[in-house]
Amino acid sequence: MARNVVIIGAGPGGLAAARALRSYLDPSDRIVVIDRHDEQRLGVTLLLIMRGWREPEEVMIRPSRVLAGTAELVVAEALQIDPTARRVETSVGSITYDALVLASGAEVVPELIPGLASALENGVAGHCWTLPAALQLRERLHCFPGGRVLIVIARLPYKCPPAPYEVALLVRDLAEERGIGQSIEVTVVTPEPSPLAVAGPAIGEQLTRLLEARGVSVRTGEQLSSVDPRHREVVFASGSRELFDLLIVVPPHRAPALVRDAGLADGDWVPASLETMRTSVDGIWAIGDVAAVRIRENLLVPKAAVFAQQQAEVAARDIARWLGYDAPEPEVRAFGRCWFLTGRGMAGAIEGDFLAEPRPAVTLSSPSPEGFTQMEAELASWLAQDPGR
Ligand SMILES: Cc1cc2nc3c(=O)[nH]c(=O)nc-3n(C[C@H](O)[C@H](O)[C@H](O)COP(=O)(O)OP(=O)(O)OC[C@H]3O[C@@H](n4cnc5c(N)ncnc54)[C@H](O)[C@@H]3O)c2cc1C
Repeated sequence: MARNVVIIGAGPGGLAAARALRSYLDPSDRIVVIDRHDEQRLGVTLLLIMRGWREPEEVMIRPSRVLAGTAELVVAEALQIDPTARRVETSVGSITYDALVLASGAEVVPELIPGLASALENGVAGHCWTLPAALQLRERLHCFPGGRVLIVIARLPYKCPPAPYEVALLVRDLAEERGIGQSIEVTVVTPEPSPLAVAGPAIGEQLTRLLEARGVSVRTGEQLSSVDPRHREVVFASGSRELFDLLIVVPPHRAPALVRDAGLADGDWVPASLETMRTSVDGIWAIGDVAAVRIRENLLVPKAAVFAQQQAEVAARDIARWLGYDAPEPEVRAFGRCWFLTGRGMAGAIEGDFLAEPRPAVTLSSPSPEGFTQMEAELASWLAQDPGR
């Protein structure tokens, strides 16, 4: 009897899961991917768009075309998951499943920090963790007259740990290009003990040196508690305060309401096994940003596309075996590489094995023009998966 596998989310995780599942399941099995949009962009392109180097349509693929011949895309809002009936309610009807993959990513929730939503609405604050926000921030930065730019990481974890530091360097880069480099001051404030703490203290030191050499200062160990948009001031849990002319924030992230309301989350995220990507509920797997995947006591897999894609392969193999197919055993990996955009046409790479003992073995390569070219080549090959472009 043909089975139904449903995937919620057509991001890098969902697309990779559909592809891997197709290679392990019988051609008669149905693979359905649900997403509210038939439009996807890699996270790194939000930085390129914010900096003004790319337009949104230049870096967009259509999942309907990418998935043609592999899976069926249902463009709809997934409204409710019923794990007992094995059914997803969507804005276009119910879809039943034998196996369900949650690849719904994370949502950003500025409302969790008092004052932040109104600071974003009235333009004294901005971010680039969604496309509309990246476009707004681009406008703000292109007419920013100079002054104090504060980049604050509100909470951990968030999508793409290096991104706030790249934002800092790109903000400086743009200011220099606009001839106002001397009149801006850029500071990154993080709750972490060192920048990019997930990659270990040595990377933190190297990154701090790189940022300081480019005129970006870093303050660690500060937890954002509120924003006062009227006085352009942020308040931290320690009681300390900072004034700003422009606030760029990494808003709080959490799993979408859809999965939290279904009782699949523990706190903000859906716990999933590193070895199989199974959740605690039979018949449901979680991959990518929505999942909390524990490597060890105090280390979770970082939220990045590269890991979502590796987890998609693990989940696909496990689902195929669970359905009775002779698929290879899941191979546990947490090796990742992220380009690190530094401006001046250069990029470094942060790469490493997060499974290494006793701590992740991560390196940050020196920024170079070749790094930027390689990042662009990788982006081009990702865009090339859409045959309609
Ligand atoms: C500024 C920035 C820079 C980044 N740079 C990098 C980088 O250099 N390298 C890297 O590896 N990663 C990077 N990332 C992170 C990367 O974008 C994410 O980790 C990745 O997209 C996660 O993939 P995912 O498939 O888990 O979720 P997502 O890509 O978020 O996809 C989830 C999908 O689910 C859909 N969805 C959610 N809920 C519903 C619902 N109820 N109904 C219907 N559809 C729904 C959404 O529409 C979305 O399309 C960056 C992120 C940002 C913000």
